[in-house]
Amino acid sequence: MRTVEEAQTIVTSEIPRGPGRRIPLRKALGRVLAKDVFSPIASPSFDSSAMDGYAVCGDSKQLSVVAEIAAGDRFEKRLRSGEAARIMTGAIIPTGTTGVIPQEEVVAEDRKIFLSRKIERGENIRRCGEELKKGDLALSTGILLSPAAVGFLASLGIPTVDVWVPPRIAILSTGSELVRRSSLWRAGKVFESNSLTLTCALQEFSIDAKMIAPIPDVRSRLERAIAKALEENDFLWITGGVSVGRFDYVRPILEDLGVEPIFWKVAQRPGKPLFFGRKGDRFIFGLPGNPASSLVCYYEYARPALRRWLGFEDLYLEEEKARITVPLLSKPRITQFIRGVASRNHRGLSVRPAGDQGSHRMGTFAQANCLVVLPSRKRVYKKGDSVLIHWIPR
Ligand code: AMP
Ligand code: MG
Repeated sequence: MRTVEEAQTIVTSEIPRGPGRRIPLRKALGRVLAKDVFSPIASPSFDSSAMDGYAVCGDSKQLSVVAEIAAGDRFEKRLRSGEAARIMTGAIIPTGTTGVIPQEEVVAEDRKIFLSRKIERGENIRRCGEELKKGDLALSTGILLSPAAVGFLASLGIPTVDVWVPPRIAILSTGSELVRRSSLWRAGKVFESNSLTLTCALQEFSIDAKMIAPIPDVRSRLERAIAKALEENDFLWITGGVSVGRFDYVRPILEDLGVEPIFWKVAQRPGKPLFFGRKGDRFIFGLPGNPASSLVCYYEYARPALRRWLGFEDLYLEEEKARITVPLLSKPRITQFIRGVASRNHRGLSVRPAGDQGSHRMGTFAQANCLVVLPSRKRVYKKGDSVLIHWIPR
């Protein structure tokens, strides 16, 4: 049996970065840059006006207006001392310009303007190459392509970027009791929910997983389904059938199919029977069937694995310290992940358990915004003590 820390380290060191691929910039939101991007142009690419106003030449306070330059215009004449050009934001600065005086600070009459103060050299001029020279590093590998990052690259005229592309993921649920349609539901049957839970969680990364219809605990059928899913996917997430019940066939089947078991069982609650294995470049998680267990294992293991593949540097859930509002008891040799509700007020961050922690209970998970991590040492945590929480992504 592995500790949580061991299991997490094994997972994230086994998983490689996924393949990089060039994709259109407009599809790149949320992906991580797999190659440095160098700017094909200077930014700004010409001296331009930061204001609607007048480009003036010299330091006289009375000038004659000799031209009007709109954004996008070409302008090749030179301003001479005592001359000004009406200019719009983003328009090209004429040669000879000392600075741009905002329109609001000017009295205009006929073809003349009067300034109330002296213009400063370079005032309101955005210089060519001020942000980037042509060929400069614009964004480096590893950065998350946020709306701002995508927009920045668009502003440099870059049409495509290299990113780490998502893996193909299949989610396979197993259990003879599982049904999806109400018409099939009767005593002894259970609505299959894990695959939808996990599919939804994957929307954080805009990944559409393949959701396989639940497979009953019949060895031959399960083996066929797993073999097919393994062939077609990079990641296979199986939920259920990985524990020690008589019909828990997942591990023997994986073994028959040549999957190398890397670990089985982690000293944690919930989620003890977690299985992790690989077959060549394919990775398999056997997630416990209990809905809360499978989701905790997703957040603590499968999600970090995925983030590693996707090129993220930070793999794990964001963590923070919070004060507990009720006493808690940690257990020897078992890390507990307690679904919690954390809230912040002027006195800091506090957290309480969301309610019953049964691994079949999703109602409390639905209320929770974090997992309280109680380490594997026996200890009584008193009200007001500080504990570690892992934030659940919304
Ligand atoms: P297992 O890990 O197969 O022993 O399943 C443990 C518990 O989780 C059982 O009560 C199952 O009915 C339930 N369970 C297993 N798979 C799912 C699923 N996909 N959706 C909802 N409940 C499940
Ligand atoms: Mg089962």
